[in-house]
Amino acid sequence: MSDNNRLNVMIVPVTPFQQNCTLIWNEGTKRGVVIDPGGDLDVIRQALKQAGMSVDRILLTHGHIDHAGGAADLKAELGVPLEGPHQADRFLLDHLEQTAAGYGIEGARNVVPDAWLSEGQKIDIGGIAFDVLHCPGHSPGSVVFVNKEQKFAIVGDVLFQGSVGRSDLPGGDHDTLIRSIKDKLLPLGDDITFICGHGPASTIGQERETNPFLR
Ligand SMILES: [Zn+2]
Ligand SMILES: [Zn+2]
Repeated sequence: MSDNNRLNVMIVPVTPFQQNCTLIWNEGTKRGVVIDPGGDLDVIRQALKQAGMSVDRILLTHGHIDHAGGAADLKAELGVPLEGPHQADRFLLDHLEQTAAGYGIEGARNVVPDAWLSEGQKIDIGGIAFDVLHCPGHSPGSVVFVNKEQKFAIVGDVLFQGSVGRSDLPGGDHDTLIRSIKDKLLPLGDDITFICGHGPASTIGQERETNPFLR
């Protein structure tokens, strides 16, 4: 594989929720994306510098405060487009400031993406096309990014190592979430490694075999 097909990944936990803001960039071109800049922009700025990458776009997996709270400011600062999540999460992005106040988080701003994402679309991550899967249940507009050749996915809060996303927040639904995982994520194949919104990465195979929520 040439350098221009190799993606580097850096995980940057942000906010009191220790959300995995994720930097992904192409080894060859040093260009890439910031996924889910929930807050702590000073930490994200430092990570971008350390990575030595330039940012083509910002992506959101869903509209929760710990994932999206810093998106408006980072977008303004970098002057890049913001894409995602699915428009079913618009109500969350419209109320980020209010939600942040409830959690005692400072600096979050409401945001409107430049593009909503939907099932079957492709997005560019470091010059490599990733498929967009719409996986509602944790939030109605949650999306997952996957590239089967790279055997790699970013799943937000849909699926975790040994757990699944909570479904007690507005617009959440547990049965819908499990259906999203079983219908769209498990069929991707056991050898897919995924990064989730909180905690360690895992593989589809490991979760298929051991995740108690998928029995
Ligand atoms: Zn969430
Ligand atoms: Zn989260």
